Amino acid sequence: MNQRLQGIGMTSRRTRERMIHRLKEQGITHPAVLKVMLETPRHIFVEEALESRAYEDTALPIGFNQTISQPYIVARMTELLLEPGVPDKVLEVGTGSGYQTAILAQLAKRVHTVERIYPLQQRARRCLQDLNLRNVRMKHSDGGWGWEEYAPYDAIIVTAAPAEIPPALLEQMARRSVMVIPVGDGRAQMLKRVVRTEVGYQAEEVEPVIFVPLLPGVV
Ligand code: SAH
Repeated sequence: MNQRLQGIGMTSRRTRERMIHRLKEQGITHPAVLKVMLETPRHIFVEEALESRAYEDTALPIGFNQTISQPYIVARMTELLLEPGVPDKVLEVGTGSGYQTAILAQLAKRVHTVERIYPLQQRARRCLQDLNLRNVRMKHSDGGWGWEEYAPYDAIIVTAAPAEIPPALLEQMARRSVMVIPVGDGRAQMLKRVVRTEVGYQAEEVEPVIFVPLLPGVV
């Protein structure tokens, strides 16, 4: 691994170990999720000026009014997504920095990710290339429409909050698949887990969360 990926001081593996310790204290138990988060250099996904804060348990700005989600939320959502088993094909709506994408790419067979802000998508693409993660397909589009071409998906993760779950995403769920999505139109939302069964959908509330809104159109 080169120097930048490896990190030093506040971006070193030692600092990541402390982050993992915290995640365990916060109730994250899935061994594969913890392992991948230990090994993934989160600092390359934030601006250089913020690198030393990359392993704090907080969301950080990534430009364009967007944020990289806090480690706890990334871990929790990933854990919920993997609960029914390791998904073959995942759809992520809201690539952002690409950090969540990188975590998923190391746990699922293929990841399809959609982002509406082009420069963010490009930056995320470079980070995934630096990590040599090749099982990710990216699309510059409004993810409220999902990504029909590769549907249905075994798992869908949405990292921006709509007021209501977009019907296209429900349609693109495979049977016995799972979707994790923050829902609500205020500053605070509810994280929901939706399971598609043989006969319909079951939704369950997980915990209150704060996400940026899911916005229409592309930039
Ligand atoms: N998982 C990302 C979270 C980024 S914040 C990370 O950890 O970095 C949410 C992202 O969703 C932003 O980049 C925002 O531009 C994107 N987004 C918002 N509405 C969207 C939409 N309709 N389609 C695709 N992406 C969207």
